[in-house]
Amino acid sequence: MNLPTAHHPDRDWATGHCWCCAAENVPVLWIGPAQSQDHGTAPVYACAACVLRWEQLIAEHGARRDAPGREAHCA
Ligand SMILES: [Zn+2]
Repeated sequence: MNLPTAHHPDRDWATGHCWCCAAENVPVLWIGPAQSQDHGTAPVYACAACVLRWEQLIAEHGARRDAPGREAHCA
């Protein structure tokens, strides 16, 4: 397979639905659990472009550990 996984060669990519941008049948990576008020938790998968966005947000968060939590928005 030729997946855009250069940034995460050791992580488990699958083909499916990106929970961030709603792309279908794309390589996706599990990025963590999401919590629902009424439906518990679910695994969230993101496509390569959204994973890169998450990487940026997480890096910014890590650089500002003393700042209040920031809302994360998908591209
Ligand atoms: Zn996406």
